Amino acid sequence: MSRAHRYDVVVVGAGGAGLMAARYAAQQPGVSVAVISKLYPTRSHTGAAQGGVGAALGNVSEDHAEWHAFDTIKGGDYLTDQDAAEMFAHDVIDAVYELEHMGLPFSRLPNGKIAQRKFGGHTRDFGKSAVERACYAADRTGHMILQTLYQQSIKDNVTFFNEFHVLDLVMVGGECRGVVAYELATGELHTFQAKATIIAAGGNGRIFKVTSNAHTLTGDLMSIAYRRGIPIEDPEFYQIHPTGLYKLGVLLTEGARGEGAILRNADGERFMERYAPTIKDLAPRDLVSRAMYLEIREGRGCGPNKDYLHLDLTHIDAHIIEERLPDITEFSRIYLAVDPVKELVPIQPTAHYAMGGIPTNIDTEVISDGANTVVPGLYAAGEVACVSIHGANRLGTNSLGDLIVFGRRAGMFAARYAAEASFGNVPRDVLDYSRSLIDKVKSGPGREKVAKLRQELQETMQDNASVFRTEESLSRQVAILKELKGRYGQVGLEDQGERFNTELIEALELGFLLDNAEQLVHAALNRQESRGAHSREDFPERDDQNWLKHTLIYQDGDGVRIGYKPVNIGKYEPKPRVY
Ligand SMILES: Cc1cc2nc3c(=O)[nH]c(=O)nc-3n(C[C@H](O)[C@H](O)[C@H](O)COP(=O)(O)OP(=O)(O)OC[C@H]3O[C@@H](n4cnc5c(N)ncnc54)[C@H](O)[C@@H]3O)c2cc1C
Repeated sequence: MSRAHRYDVVVVGAGGAGLMAARYAAQQPGVSVAVISKLYPTRSHTGAAQGGVGAALGNVSEDHAEWHAFDTIKGGDYLTDQDAAEMFAHDVIDAVYELEHMGLPFSRLPNGKIAQRKFGGHTRDFGKSAVERACYAADRTGHMILQTLYQQSIKDNVTFFNEFHVLDLVMVGGECRGVVAYELATGELHTFQAKATIIAAGGNGRIFKVTSNAHTLTGDLMSIAYRRGIPIEDPEFYQIHPTGLYKLGVLLTEGARGEGAILRNADGERFMERYAPTIKDLAPRDLVSRAMYLEIREGRGCGPNKDYLHLDLTHIDAHIIEERLPDITEFSRIYLAVDPVKELVPIQPTAHYAMGGIPTNIDTEVISDGANTVVPGLYAAGEVACVSIHGANRLGTNSLGDLIVFGRRAGMFAARYAAEASFGNVPRDVLDYSRSLIDKVKSGPGREKVAKLRQELQETMQDNASVFRTEESLSRQVAILKELKGRYGQVGLEDQGERFNTELIEALELGFLLDNAEQLVHAALNRQESRGAHSREDFPERDDQNWLKHTLIYQDGDGVRIGYKPVNIGKYEPKPRVY
């Protein structure tokens, strides 16, 4: 196989966002499209998504896009860009019908319409009560989306390069001209020249110890873009989901609470009634996770160590549990030997979703500063991107919606751009950076082990930078990261081979994780307020006067530089967030 490739549009990532983008780009006549993915496409994390995709179809009770937009903005603690949220809430309705027409097997109501259920923070009439907005396929919604989109991409003649690991963006004079990727099977480096490049490489939840995220979610492209001078927007806002299986972090969908499940403390109390009197267990995730930490801290946790809480489904009809929540029921039976039909399930908050990411405008073009300067030829969509519809806290079901709405836009706009543009030259030394990355770890002294450093990273991030943060804990973590980065220079590999060298991949991924952690911790230390998922015990109030703005963090030599970008406020003036 030749190692120099040329496509009009190159998409990095084959999850929901990447596949939606690829399909749309491929539908533009005469535009060639390649998808590069480190995983086989249907192993992407989108396939693990459970509970649903939110759209105001109004199939179960009255609903409107306007209510969805408002919930998204309020859920994001007013850091959400309101123009993006309004466009999203309208477009996602059509995008869900499009998935239906592609053949996605949604669960159905008796009248044949797509079934919908309640989810955290989704309300009727601007907060009056919970509304059924999540369209679902049992608790395998993401699996169905991914399979459907993969089939469609094959039909649309998208070319796939699977188990190719992108290591670098080809940037020339501030313009993106493609990517460099490492082929896992052969150990060879490939150049992919492109008129337009779409980054859809997913999240970075592996910076934490207890996480719902797959092993491969290591924030590679958030690090690669950062190393190439592109800032990361709002990395301090990292979502911790309330219901992970105790100790394992494996997710139990919020759809369980949508079907009526209740959180209880060691006294059997439904404690969310105290924290969110109107929508209780269906409050947004940041509020619920904080409430859980407080219950545990105040001694009302369960078990001998009082360090977990319970999810109670026992009052729900067994056939509803088996029919609408089959996967999580199995997870609980298999991993904890607990049967949710009859017993309380031990749960604890689990790291879940990056609200921040590579900054884009509403047309998914990557921007490089607070003045919205566009990086020509570069687009981003999905969890890796920050548009920002999720603001300081994402509502459940809004990520799958984000993938299909902004994936579609990325595909359309990138293809249009490619149809007008011509191929720019690729520098002769284009492979040098990637080669040096590989050589450095391969020929390192081996005084440090990748697994050990990764474990220290995950444990310390969990302790110092998760649900509650202080200046002290974050400063401690800044120092720890500096030390870990130093020690990372001392790793070496036992496997010196060229074929399927997964040890090499893990070492490179650790380098990316360290950058992601650095972005998060510095931005969190800088932001002296509490908003959404960012909760500073030393600055417990939201401070709109000084902090109603997006963070942009840049790599600057060995350190970081911080800038800002205004929030796009529309018709909803920031108000205190009461549920
Ligand atoms: C357990 C779980 C349940 C969830 N449930 C829901 C839900 O019910 N509703 C909801 O809205 N959201 C849910 N989410 C969130 C949502 O699923 C994710 O945010 C979303 O699927 C991310 O999609 P993506 O397309 O951005 O990336 P992913 O699906 O993660 O795909 C990333 C792609 O990038 C590729 N890639 C990454 N790095 C590289 C590299 N260096 N080189 C080449 N390729 C690379 C990978 O191979 C992969 O194909 C859930 C998340 C989890 C973890």
